[in-house]
Amino acid sequence: MSMRELVVLGTASQAPTRARNHNGYVLRWDDEVILFDPGEGSQRQLLHTTVTATDLTRICITHFHGDHCLGLPGTIQRLSLDRVSRPVAVHFPAEGAEYFARLRHASSFYETAELAVTPIEADGQRIALRCGTLEARRLRHPIDTYGYRLVEPDGCRMLPERLAAYGIEGPAVGELQRVGHLDLDGHRVTRDEVSVPRPGQRFAFVMDTGLCDGVYALAEQADLLVIESTFLESEAALAAEVGHLTAGQAARVAAESGVRRLVLTHFSQRYADPRRFADEARAHFDGDLVIAEDLTTVQVPPRRVPSAG
Ligand SMILES: [Zn+2]
Repeated sequence: MSMRELVVLGTASQAPTRARNHNGYVLRWDDEVILFDPGEGSQRQLLHTTVTATDLTRICITHFHGDHCLGLPGTIQRLSLDRVSRPVAVHFPAEGAEYFARLRHASSFYETAELAVTPIEADGQRIALRCGTLEARRLRHPIDTYGYRLVEPDGCRMLPERLAAYGIEGPAVGELQRVGHLDLDGHRVTRDEVSVPRPGQRFAFVMDTGLCDGVYALAEQADLLVIESTFLESEAALAAEVGHLTAGQAARVAAESGVRRLVLTHFSQRYADPRRFADEARAHFDGDLVIAEDLTTVQVPPRRVPSAG
């Protein structure tokens, strides 16, 4: 089976703490290994996981505040040091192109790795991947910021016993799946007769933002939502002022959007006890809740069971 999981590199906003590195996340999803928002120290955090720099297929940056991008120089240089031979895709807000150019060439190095750079130019921009569609949505923050989601299209799962009952095998199975029907001795067999729906999965990544339409568009029906909850309710006014979410707001978004597994992260260093985030989120969200810790792995939950009928 293909692997779909989130590897958490760091969980601190703004400044790292003794227990929390700057932000950083890797999503393994079939043939994609996507690094999101590598903060300072991300290259070293990778060493403590099973992900290597050579595994990376893509880098997505939400915005150019330091805790979301200061790990870029080291990571980019590492790609060349490790002689990565295929292009690594990179996405970031187009308005931040100058920051990207500086980070990319922050110091001298022998550049061999190829970056396939596709900046995000507009809200709703989509990038076709083999495993689905990567979509960027504009968020609300003092500088240009985009969140991302990965959407796998709905499909179907062929049922071997039904196929066998019709004597369908070999290349005919692929044809039936592709065309939707197959004519056998004057009798037409449709795909629906020999398969069940297989709902596509969704991953969403929502970083620094106040509440806005983009947050909900990204979170909609996500199997796994990674979302910032920098603050607690006691700092709600400050959160609104500086373009951040509280744990309660993030949890309400998840509940209203049909999210299955919710990962809260990007915590302000002012809070010592992470259980407070869980307590505030639990008041609004009763699905799977993860208060992210550095160097942990969170599985994308198993596929939804298709609704009957
Ligand atoms: Zn920020």
